[in-house]
Amino acid sequence: MTASVLSNPSKYVYSAIREEDDFAEGLRRQGKQVIKLSSGDPALYYPTPKYIIDAYVDALVNGRTSYSRSQGVLELVNAVIERYRSRYGISMKEQDVVVTSGVAEALTFLNSALINAGDAAVILKPYYTQYPVAIKMFGGKFVLGEYDESNDWGIELDVLAKQLRKRRAGSKRIKYLLITNPNNPTGTVLPRRTLEEVVELANENHILLASDEIYDEIVFGGASFTSVGELAKGVPHLILNGASKAFDATGFRIGYVLVPGDDRISEELKHKLADYCRVRLSANTPAQYAIATAMNNRTEHQRTVGQLVNAIEGIVGSAMKLLEENRCLSTVRPRGAFYIFPRIDMGSLEFKDDKEFVHALLKEELIQTTRGSGFGAPNHFRIVALAPRNVMSGCIEKINGFCRKHSK
Ligand code: PLP
Repeated sequence: MTASVLSNPSKYVYSAIREEDDFAEGLRRQGKQVIKLSSGDPALYYPTPKYIIDAYVDALVNGRTSYSRSQGVLELVNAVIERYRSRYGISMKEQDVVVTSGVAEALTFLNSALINAGDAAVILKPYYTQYPVAIKMFGGKFVLGEYDESNDWGIELDVLAKQLRKRRAGSKRIKYLLITNPNNPTGTVLPRRTLEEVVELANENHILLASDEIYDEIVFGGASFTSVGELAKGVPHLILNGASKAFDATGFRIGYVLVPGDDRISEELKHKLADYCRVRLSANTPAQYAIATAMNNRTEHQRTVGQLVNAIEGIVGSAMKLLEENRCLSTVRPRGAFYIFPRIDMGSLEFKDDKEFVHALLKEELIQTTRGSGFGAPNHFRIVALAPRNVMSGCIEKINGFCRKHSK
């Protein structure tokens, strides 16, 4: 037998969110109408706002079509600095901001820059599916903290503290601790007090703190978002964010990494991230100009993001009401982002696990969702709450009927 041409870490490169895409495509080719509740893509349902599209077209017409400054065009870098200054009171310099092709690319750069084979990073489960993949791609290991479902999916600070202390004493070197706020897949918005404790833990254990804040503006009434940058002054940290969700511009592929500190770790990291950017030349140039314009036009942005958040909150509210009728599912109410993450009472259903559940739901009801085990939380599944309210309600009713049909 010939040895595989592939590298060892490449075996971890896999997307649980997209694993049913081919099967769903096969159903569509048979003429069936599949409803996709698996992709966290607002632009699938809400066209990117016109003023952003116009700005993109302007950039093209005005010849902004060459490679650009590798770490991001200054118009966008300055717009990002102003965004974090005005929203969160954080001050940054040009070199603290690095523009990437989405947070997805930022995660690859980050892990490549930080992880040696055998190093570890701490992520909390349920986690966004790309996190462990990006760590393992570079021969790293991930150590799990936990969000506690019985406590509104808040962070289990004791478990996290124990993990950090144990690992500090052990052989693996922990390179960073990554949190997601608001969270995908649970929709949790972390209270300021919890974030203060997380910052303290990172500080005590000398671990670089990373916060993925890509849903920072998708927060429902009653919840309030705090950026880690507001609390971590003096503690090495980085922030991941981008245009995909708040600017409803997923396909533009614009993300950014902020490294606001001037300690040795932060300085080393921001310079290395800039090198990564140079090696891949530049992010999409017209898209950078368009997002810079969008960030600077605060009035239009407030109006359009406000409409998006209102729509999502309405969809989540009516979906949650219908889910309450389902005896096989229990769901913590999300406070932000656009996901619903029910727990499946597997013992009451005919299915072996969440994978079987999600596959049968797609096959029988033509509704595509994602298995919770892909997020490190077996016996759950993730529903993307972006489809119009009537479509979404129809789907939840079908899910309820599906669970009744398969009850033991
Ligand atoms: N981080 C989280 C928590 C996400 O949910 C997603 C996309 O769903 C991403 C990062 C990727 O974002 P981007 O489109 O900027 O690559």
